[in-house]
Amino acid sequence: MRDFNIVVLGAGGVGKSALTVRFCQDVFLETYDPTIEENYRKVIQVDGTPARLEILDTAGAEQFKGLNEGYIKAGRGFILVYSLTQEASLREIDMLRQQIYAIKGGDTNVPIVVAGTKMDLVNEREVSNDTAQTLSSRWHAPFYETSAKRNWHVTETFEDLVRQMLAKYPHD
Ligand code: GDP
Ligand code: MG
Repeated sequence: MRDFNIVVLGAGGVGKSALTVRFCQDVFLETYDPTIEENYRKVIQVDGTPARLEILDTAGAEQFKGLNEGYIKAGRGFILVYSLTQEASLREIDMLRQQIYAIKGGDTNVPIVVAGTKMDLVNEREVSNDTAQTLSSRWHAPFYETSAKRNWHVTETFEDLVRQMLAKYPHD
């Protein structure tokens, strides 16, 4: 069985935990606890290949930033999460991405997926699909708009990342 460490990164409150819990447990996490940092495990089949995922849902609040370096070193794939209801959270993932590349020694082929969350909150949208798509294309990273609440594109987001990791680490 192939094992992969995934790290979920993004600003506080964007929906990292809700996205992770939706994927791993198929429930919607209503409550918001910004301090919770947890590891989740899930086995999935992608294109016929089983993969055992260990997913670190980081706390992501400003005061925990110093801890990112160790996670990023250990991580094989990254989900960069912003909320499409909060423009500032998109700038935050730009910084996180730069941090990943710096820590990975300039490796331009790090498996990354960009996930915009809270797609169901249509009246609160601040980030257009185009804006995020343009940014993600520049990074050569796939991009999905998701809703943990409605379970939209959550599985696709994780599967895409696993596909990238399977291609990059064929012998693990
Ligand atoms: P985190 O700090 O990034 O882990 O954020 P959370 O996952 O805890 O989410 C923060 C708040 O946003 C919680 O109250 C969630 O229920 C809510 N939330 C997360 N994802 C969604 C979503 O897709 N739709 C809606 N409507 N609310 C969401
Ligand atoms: Mg959280």
